[in-house]
Amino acid sequence: MEKYYDVIVVGTGVAGLNCALHLPSDKRVAVICKGSPDRSDSYLAQGGICRLQGREDYDSYFADTMRAGHSENNPAAVACMINNSEEIGDELIALGVDFARNPDGTLAVTREGGHSKSRICFHEDCTGKEITTRLMQTVSRLSNVSVIPETTMLDILADENRCYGIIVSDNATGRLQTVFADYTVLACGGIGGLFSHSTNYRLISGDGVAICLKHGVAVDNINYIQFHPTTLFTKSTIGRSFLISESVRGEGAVLLDKNFNRFTDELQPRDVVTAAIYKQMEKDGSEHVWLDLRPVPEKELREHFPSIVEKCREEGYDVFTQPIPVVPAQHYFMGGVRSDLNGRTTMERLYAVGETCCNGVHGANRLASNSLLESLLFAKRAAEDMARNYSKIDLNAARKIAGALDMGRYADPAKLLEEYRELLKKAIKEAEDAKPRFGRA
Ligand SMILES: Cc1cc2nc3c(=O)[nH]c(=O)nc-3n(C[C@H](O)[C@H](O)[C@H](O)COP(=O)(O)OP(=O)(O)OC[C@H]3O[C@@H](n4cnc5c(N)ncnc54)[C@H](O)[C@@H]3O)c2cc1C
Repeated sequence: MEKYYDVIVVGTGVAGLNCALHLPSDKRVAVICKGSPDRSDSYLAQGGICRLQGREDYDSYFADTMRAGHSENNPAAVACMINNSEEIGDELIALGVDFARNPDGTLAVTREGGHSKSRICFHEDCTGKEITTRLMQTVSRLSNVSVIPETTMLDILADENRCYGIIVSDNATGRLQTVFADYTVLACGGIGGLFSHSTNYRLISGDGVAICLKHGVAVDNINYIQFHPTTLFTKSTIGRSFLISESVRGEGAVLLDKNFNRFTDELQPRDVVTAAIYKQMEKDGSEHVWLDLRPVPEKELREHFPSIVEKCREEGYDVFTQPIPVVPAQHYFMGGVRSDLNGRTTMERLYAVGETCCNGVHGANRLASNSLLESLLFAKRAAEDMARNYSKIDLNAARKIAGALDMGRYADPAKLLEEYRELLKKAIKEAEDAKPRFGRA
């Protein structure tokens, strides 16, 4: 990496990439990531991305988001997201994102739990891969942006509540480097790596949130963690749990107990369905419940959910003839670094966007398929905010702060990242003890 960029973005998910894409072309931007660029949770998104279905859908979409979030959402953030959803969707289409279409050419939409109507655009059952790939192709063509993989942010360079850049380690060589930036954007995703069963990539472990905690940057709702009701249960599950998208329930799949009887309404918000599953597992003395996909027409299963059909087949289940075992797993982080509607944190020159941040859109529980939209929109707004108010850091001050750093404390990155994980777990526990999340499963 070079010594000084105008903007450093930490993360190559949809939030980081869309931020880079919307920064002015005269700004030199570095986008770093911890592994390879496609190892982001954005890449894994299956179900789709919400889109307002005309003005008459506004009240219903708003009410669904607030109800799912137990009305702890920030109404202004929710309104902002919904009002911009068509524009964000159109921008993706302009980049070449191939959303499913009806025979008449209009966008096809599906439904997931908590939604009172269909409003989710999708690309088969790999919407995240489609969106992230198109964004990455576009960003890679920008001459002002460098995407730098296998580079781990170990800390921010900060003094007197002002950010001057980051400290990174090159994963391959272990080389440590201080990199200055006029603005630093945390787009580091969620905290799944803290949990033994999560749908997230293990390397996504809340580093940005822990670093903010360490520096006294405000963090909100750190114990607001969502468990997805349905991941494929396998005895061999180590690491990432395979998600069975909520859309399959939206299209008719039903949950069954050990005697193959239905026990809940599958289309309630995630936390409610998750709680019902845990309760049923306890009652049944079982490690999982069943999900029966057979009510979904075979053609729909094959065309809309090919990856799920294939993964189940690999694990020995034929979804056309038998139910599959499912169990909840950690999935999403509603809390995070406090940010306003322009992605600003409480530290000067430090932004947080995407799952790392908490701008109040999701309240106590995220409504399905709102997160890609939220990440894309508020990352774009952060880029626009930087452009509107652009100023340079005091480079002499930055050099002085860097010069005074004890680099020895970064000498063992693995140990430091483990310390961050412990710091985060402790903060989550303290927050949960102080104010338990309502309805948490
Ligand atoms: C299986 C699955 C299915 C999902 N399905 C949907 C869906 O259908 N619809 C929907 O709206 N949402 C869905 N979500 C949620 C959604 O994908 C994420 O919330 C969203 O994509 C988060 O994007 P992000 O850019 O904030 O973070 P991510 O996409 O997770 O990217 C995080 C980036 O930060 C980098 N990073 C982290 N720490 C560091 C560090 N210390 N140094 C350098 N880089 C770092 C990582 O390498 C990565 O590049 C799903 C999530 C999962 C896991």
